[in-house]
Amino acid sequence: MKLTSHIFKWVFFVFIFSNSVWAQNIPTPKEHFGFDIGDNYQLATFTQTEAYFKKIAAASPRAKYTVIGKTEEGRDQFMMIITSPENLKKLEHYRSISQKLGNPDGLSDEQAKALANEGKAVVWIDGGLHATETAGIHQLIQTAYTLLSRTDGETNRILDNVIILMTHANPDGQELVSNWYMRNPNPEKRSLQGLPRLYEKYAGHDNNRDFYMLNLKESKNIGQQLFIDWIPQIMYNHHQSGPPGSVVAGAPYRDPFNYVLDPLIISGLDAIGAANQNRLNVEGKTRLYQQKRLCVFDLVQWRIANHNVLS
Ligand SMILES: [Zn+2]
Repeated sequence: MKLTSHIFKWVFFVFIFSNSVWAQNIPTPKEHFGFDIGDNYQLATFTQTEAYFKKIAAASPRAKYTVIGKTEEGRDQFMMIITSPENLKKLEHYRSISQKLGNPDGLSDEQAKALANEGKAVVWIDGGLHATETAGIHQLIQTAYTLLSRTDGETNRILDNVIILMTHANPDGQELVSNWYMRNPNPEKRSLQGLPRLYEKYAGHDNNRDFYMLNLKESKNIGQQLFIDWIPQIMYNHHQSGPPGSVVAGAPYRDPFNYVLDPLIISGLDAIGAANQNRLNVEGKTRLYQQKRLCVFDLVQWRIANHNVLS
């Protein structure tokens, strides 16, 4: 009994100790960028962000750094895959399941249910598509750090159940916008006004509109992951409203719904929206949430909703 108790304590100690060491080994954004994400007058460039994602992926058994293609200006477009170390060992297996369920021609109901039972939820989170909406890429940095560094029960449960695809949507835009903003040595004089050129080489702000035809390299790279290689079940495509009266916007959406979409898309979006809104309320972040005026407003969302992905 005593020995068992000692063994238990030792195992418990090793578990806690290894977890805490592991968490401490993940460099914080402040250690890398020199500021906390969200600090006033501070934006991270793509060069800094790319280096950070490589650094934290190398430091964590929960992450795999991948490149999904080149941008129009020749930069690497990264997608960092985050899940439990156990899931990472079987990543190709889970990718194959998600792909089969997303394109289920030839599957019987029984086969589909068995795959759904065995598979993991695949969730896409991107950032930085519209580069002047700077919160987008900075949330990706903070979210990645949070998922790799936390060792609480909720985080571990998420990592066990979910494979998260964290993708930079517009590396060229972040490099341009952040360098332009940070060029002024006086922080209080920094501004995004007067950008010298488009923050996507050809389409600028219309890079999301390109998702109906996939002309741009960034859209093609993302499309390959969303529609062919992974086919996630949920997609978060981040945008940012202007500072005055800012709110968190998203599902549940307002009527009328588009009758072309499967009813499960609508009810699934409502469920995600309710969960998001409920969690914000639980955390005391009330009165932040606002519905969008129309269902599936953005063209990226529209495109992927037609592939039965919740977005
Ligand atoms: Zn936007």
